Parts: sequence; C-alpha cells; structure tokens
Amino acid sequence: MSAVMPESDIPPTGTARVHVLMDGYAREEEDGDRVGSTVTLITDGDVTVVVDPGMVWSRAALISALAEHGIAPDDVTDVVFSHHHPDHTVNAALFPAARIHDHWAIYDGDLWISRDADNFALSPSIRLIATPGHTEQDISTVASAADGVYVCTHAWWGADGPADDPLSPDQAALSRSRLRILDVAAVVIPGHGPSFVPGPGTPR
Ligand SMILES: [Zn+2]
Ligand SMILES: [Zn+2]
Repeated sequence: MSAVMPESDIPPTGTARVHVLMDGYAREEEDGDRVGSTVTLITDGDVTVVVDPGMVWSRAALISALAEHGIAPDDVTDVVFSHHHPDHTVNAALFPAARIHDHWAIYDGDLWISRDADNFALSPSIRLIATPGHTEQDISTVASAADGVYVCTHAWWGADGPADDPLSPDQAALSRSRLRILDVAAVVIPGHGPSFVPGPGTPR
C-alpha cells in the first residue's frame, strides 16, 4: 500500500511556462544504442530552468531550440538533473551561469550546498520532489503553469512506461513515486519521449 500524502500544497495553476526543447528517445541501432534525453525549458519570472541537458543528437540544435524562446545559454539560471545518469547530465556545462540541482545538493561554481530536494522551490511555481525508483536518487521538476501542472520526470521513459523499469533497483518505490506524480500532474514530460497526458493506461 502507498502511504503517499496528497500534494495539496502544489498550486494547480501558476505562472511557470513550460517548453520541451528536445523530445527524448531510446532505441537500439546496429552501431549501438541511440539515447536522447528529453530536455525541457521552464521559466517563471527571473528564473530560467533547463531540465536534463544530457545526451542530444546535436548541441547546436539544443541551443537553437532555446534561442527560439529568446533565451541564450548565459540566461539559464538553474539546471536540474532528474538523476545522475550521463544521458541526462553530460551537457550541463553549456549553461555556464546556472546553478545545478540534484537530489541532495545545489552546485554553484565550486560551492556544494547540501540540501534535501524534496519540496525545494526554485520559484513560486517551480519545485522539486523526490521520486526514487528509476534510481535511488531521482527527483522530478513540478511546474505550475496557467493550464495546469507539468512534471518533468524519469519515472516513465515514455507514455508506455515501460511498466517495469529495466534499470529500477526498487520497482515498488517507483510505483509509489508514479502515484505521487499522478496525484498532481496534468502533463507528464518523461525521460525519453514526448510529453503525454496521463490516463487509465499510464503504468503505475
Ligand atoms: Zn537513467
Ligand atoms: Zn534516461
């Protein structure tokens, strides 16, 4: 049974603006696995966040996607790592001014500021929540926008799951995290696929 409490303090709407910069993917090809991270831009007032600047097919394409929203790499104030796998982290240095957030700290230049990410607010409408299960160190980025709550998360690779995450050290923990997310999410932005509106068929 899940003991997860309702996320009643997450605003159902807010001032965040959410734009997926790159849809992620993961597929096998003859020369190796092709892995792209879903990379997402979230803005709220003075705060400009890039979630999961990891493996992409083209760094220039990522920067161009950002520029389409009028944002230069130096404008990014915060980078979030959903977890520590390289496919979600390797391009963080594209944003030299950004503080970096993960599950247990904020990294700012050479400053390591330990803190628990759960319910950590990056802005009035953007917060982090702890959602372990793909690894033991996953966080999700929760953005309250005008049309509802968006959640960037690796609790799903894509809309179809997979139901059982092949890398999960604790599938029960993953299920609890999924329920916690589904309690608030109008839209899920998964680790390796296009955003989706969760429904009855969404793996729990
Ligand atoms: Zn991973
Ligand atoms: Zn991944």
